[in-house]
Amino acid sequence: MKKILSFLKELFTDCFLNKNDYCYKRLENEPEFYKNKTIYIISEEEFEWVIMFKCPCGCNEKIKLNLLESSKPKWTYFIKDKNISIFPSVERVNGCKSHFIVNKGYIEWSE
Ligand SMILES: [Zn+2]
Repeated sequence: MKKILSFLKELFTDCFLNKNDYCYKRLENEPEFYKNKTIYIISEEEFEWVIMFKCPCGCNEKIKLNLLESSKPKWTYFIKDKNISIFPSVERVNGCKSHFIVNKGYIEWSE
């Protein structure tokens, strides 16, 4: 029974129900495998501390964004109609140097 419940939970938080480019998923721990176009919100109960996802440029680097008030830099996310937006923009200082924002489930590239 527990297995069925966790399967259903997985189903309803999974990306195939999402029509936008990126979807989000809440997990208690860092995922073993990062799926494409999935943004992971890592939280323990109500306590959310980091957002993780694969860099959208295709370089396969993992991006980690701090959500904790006490650390800087800090990001915030909003969810509206199941679409995730993340502020401020993400600018990678090394590697691919991607600069983008996540807006309502889509990546918008910055110059
Ligand atoms: Zn990249």
